[in-house]
Amino acid sequence: MSDCLFCDIAASKMSSDIVHKDDEVVAFRDINPQAPVHILVIPTKHIATANDLHAEDEQLVGKLYTVAKALAQKEGIAQDGYRLVMNCNKGAGQAVFHIHLHLLGGRKLTWPPG
Ligand code: 5GP
Ligand code: ZN
Repeated sequence: MSDCLFCDIAASKMSSDIVHKDDEVVAFRDINPQAPVHILVIPTKHIATANDLHAEDEQLVGKLYTVAKALAQKEGIAQDGYRLVMNCNKGAGQAVFHIHLHLLGGRKLTWPPG
Protein backbone atom coordinates (compact mmCIF):
# COMPACT_ATOMS: atom_id res chain seq x y z
CA MET A 1 0.00 0.00 0.00
CA SER A 2 1.20 3.50 -0.78
CA ASP A 3 0.26 6.64 1.12
CA CYS A 4 -2.21 7.58 -1.61
CA LEU A 5 -5.64 5.93 -1.68
CA PHE A 6 -6.22 6.57 -5.38
CA CYS A 7 -2.74 5.30 -6.36
CA ASP A 8 -3.69 2.11 -4.51
CA ILE A 9 -7.03 1.89 -6.33
CA ALA A 10 -5.29 2.48 -9.69
CA ALA A 11 -2.83 -0.30 -8.86
CA SER A 12 -5.67 -2.61 -7.68
CA LYS A 13 -4.08 -2.75 -4.21
CA MET A 14 -7.36 -1.36 -2.86
CA SER A 15 -10.72 -2.66 -4.08
CA SER A 16 -13.16 -0.48 -5.96
CA ASP A 17 -15.91 -0.80 -8.55
CA ILE A 18 -13.77 -0.09 -11.63
CA VAL A 19 -15.64 0.89 -14.80
CA HIS A 20 -12.65 1.79 -17.00
CA LYS A 21 -8.95 0.99 -16.96
CA ASP A 22 -6.16 1.57 -19.46
CA ASP A 23 -2.47 2.46 -19.28
CA GLU A 24 -3.10 6.06 -18.26
CA VAL A 25 -6.60 6.41 -16.81
CA VAL A 26 -8.76 4.52 -14.30
CA ALA A 27 -12.41 5.21 -13.49
CA PHE A 28 -14.40 3.77 -10.58
CA ARG A 29 -17.68 4.40 -8.78
CA ASP A 30 -17.57 6.80 -5.85
CA ILE A 31 -18.01 5.04 -2.51
CA ASN A 32 -20.39 7.78 -1.33
CA PRO A 33 -22.36 8.70 -4.45
CA GLN A 34 -23.93 12.14 -4.65
CA ALA A 35 -26.04 11.24 -7.70
CA PRO A 36 -27.34 8.03 -9.32
CA VAL A 37 -24.20 8.07 -11.47
CA HIS A 38 -21.08 9.23 -9.60
CA ILE A 39 -17.83 8.05 -11.11
CA LEU A 40 -14.29 9.26 -10.38
CA VAL A 41 -11.92 9.45 -13.36
CA ILE A 42 -8.24 9.58 -12.38
CA PRO A 43 -4.84 9.45 -14.05
CA THR A 44 -2.68 6.48 -13.05
CA LYS A 45 0.11 9.03 -12.55
CA HIS A 46 0.04 10.63 -9.11
CA ILE A 47 -0.73 14.34 -9.35
CA ALA A 48 -1.86 15.81 -6.03
CA THR A 49 -3.98 18.77 -7.11
CA ALA A 50 -4.83 20.85 -10.19
CA ASN A 51 -2.17 23.27 -8.91
CA ASP A 52 0.44 20.58 -9.62
CA LEU A 53 -0.40 20.20 -13.32
CA HIS A 54 2.26 21.00 -15.89
CA ALA A 55 2.26 21.40 -19.66
CA GLU A 56 3.42 17.79 -20.00
CA ASP A 57 0.11 16.69 -18.42
CA GLU A 58 -2.12 18.39 -21.00
CA GLN A 59 -2.74 15.24 -23.04
CA LEU A 60 -3.42 13.23 -19.90
CA VAL A 61 -5.94 15.74 -18.53
CA GLY A 62 -7.64 15.82 -21.92
CA LYS A 63 -7.97 12.06 -21.73
CA LEU A 64 -9.76 12.27 -18.38
CA TYR A 65 -12.48 14.17 -20.26
CA THR A 66 -12.73 11.82 -23.23
CA VAL A 67 -12.95 8.80 -20.90
CA ALA A 68 -15.60 10.63 -18.84
CA LYS A 69 -17.58 11.46 -21.98
CA ALA A 70 -17.52 7.82 -23.10
CA LEU A 71 -18.65 6.68 -19.64
CA ALA A 72 -21.50 9.22 -19.64
CA GLN A 73 -22.69 7.70 -22.91
CA LYS A 74 -22.32 4.18 -21.52
CA GLU A 75 -24.26 5.09 -18.36
CA GLY A 76 -27.05 6.63 -20.46
CA ILE A 77 -26.77 10.16 -19.06
CA ALA A 78 -25.12 11.91 -22.00
CA GLN A 79 -28.33 13.28 -23.52
CA ASP A 80 -30.00 14.45 -20.29
CA GLY A 81 -26.76 16.00 -19.07
CA TYR A 82 -24.05 15.51 -16.52
CA ARG A 83 -21.42 17.43 -14.61
CA LEU A 84 -17.64 17.07 -14.70
CA VAL A 85 -15.92 18.73 -11.78
CA MET A 86 -12.48 18.69 -10.18
CA ASN A 87 -12.12 20.18 -6.70
CA CYS A 88 -8.78 21.83 -5.94
CA ASN A 89 -7.57 22.00 -2.34
CA LYS A 90 -9.52 21.98 0.90
CA GLY A 91 -11.40 25.24 0.31
CA ALA A 92 -13.11 23.63 -2.69
CA GLY A 93 -13.77 20.37 -0.86
CA GLN A 94 -10.86 18.27 -2.11
CA ALA A 95 -10.41 15.40 0.34
CA VAL A 96 -8.26 12.99 -1.68
CA PHE A 97 -5.03 14.52 -2.94
CA HIS A 98 -4.72 12.68 -6.24
CA ILE A 99 -6.57 14.56 -8.96
CA HIS A 100 -9.93 13.14 -9.98
CA LEU A 101 -12.70 14.25 -12.25
CA HIS A 102 -16.15 13.68 -10.74
CA LEU A 103 -18.69 12.49 -13.32
CA LEU A 104 -22.13 13.19 -11.85
CA GLY A 105 -25.50 12.57 -13.45
CA GLY A 106 -28.77 10.70 -13.44
CA ARG A 107 -30.64 13.47 -11.64
CA LYS A 108 -31.30 17.18 -12.05
CA LEU A 109 -28.17 19.04 -10.94
CA THR A 110 -28.53 22.53 -9.56
CA TRP A 111 -26.21 25.46 -10.20
CA PRO A 112 -24.27 27.05 -8.63
CA PRO A 113 -22.87 24.21 -6.50
CA GLY A 114 -22.48 24.92 -2.78
P1 5GP B 1 -12.98 15.14 -3.35
O1 5GP B 1 -13.74 15.59 -2.13
O2 5GP B 1 -11.51 14.96 -3.05
O3 5GP B 1 -13.21 16.00 -4.56
O4 5GP B 1 -13.56 13.73 -3.75
C1 5GP B 1 -13.11 12.55 -3.16
C2 5GP B 1 -14.15 11.50 -3.44
O5 5GP B 1 -13.59 10.24 -3.20
C3 5GP B 1 -15.40 11.62 -2.55
O6 5GP B 1 -16.55 11.79 -3.37
C4 5GP B 1 -15.41 10.30 -1.79
O7 5GP B 1 -16.72 9.79 -1.58
C5 5GP B 1 -14.56 9.40 -2.66
N1 5GP B 1 -13.86 8.36 -1.95
C6 5GP B 1 -13.15 8.49 -0.79
N2 5GP B 1 -12.62 7.32 -0.42
C7 5GP B 1 -13.00 6.42 -1.37
C8 5GP B 1 -12.74 5.02 -1.54
O8 5GP B 1 -12.06 4.36 -0.75
N3 5GP B 1 -13.29 4.43 -2.63
C9 5GP B 1 -14.05 5.12 -3.53
N4 5GP B 1 -14.54 4.43 -4.56
N5 5GP B 1 -14.30 6.44 -3.40
C10 5GP B 1 -13.78 7.08 -2.33
ZN1 ZN C 1 -1.90 9.05 -5.93
